[in-house]
Amino acid sequence: MKIAVTSLSERPTPLAATMSPKELDLRAEHTRFEAPVQVAVTVTRMQEDVLAEGKASTTAIAECSRCLEDVPIALHGEFEALYVPDTGRFAKRMDHPDFAGSGQRVNFYSELTVDLTDEIRQSVLLELPMKPLCRPDCAGLCPRCGADLNAGPCACKPEKAEDPWAKLRALIPASPK
Ligand SMILES: [Zn+2]
Ligand SMILES: [Zn+2]
Repeated sequence: MKIAVTSLSERPTPLAATMSPKELDLRAEHTRFEAPVQVAVTVTRMQEDVLAEGKASTTAIAECSRCLEDVPIALHGEFEALYVPDTGRFAKRMDHPDFAGSGQRVNFYSELTVDLTDEIRQSVLLELPMKPLCRPDCAGLCPRCGADLNAGPCACKPEKAEDPWAKLRALIPASPK
């Protein structure tokens, strides 16, 4: 999502766009991005700098980390970034007390064009859960036969708790009768 800096005024300008996962190059392991991404951003020009605050929403198809079924995951990313012209004055800015340690993300722009694509992509990817689940109590797959235990118990016998004395007992000869 590219914005011409000269088109912006010093008043906050709300912009909206629908982007394809391909445009955003959305990729993550065990996840498919097929739905469009709705982007709403407010852009404010402050002399040469541009502040962008926005939201990006979509639905991804992830794999349940237990049973491997598809799970739709609603993602609502948020971002806030400052864009400064790539003119080499940045180092000076970093020393400015208003600027140092503000914690705000700073990106460069050139050719009078601010590109929000990276921020949008990252805000969406950050929302992906580490271990997606199709439901909180997903029973997962049987580690032995691979059956989906959500459909009911499989034919495998339940594993017995290990007998801590089994190995020792095997060493003792059976007592004569
Ligand atoms: Zn599951
Ligand atoms: Zn089994």
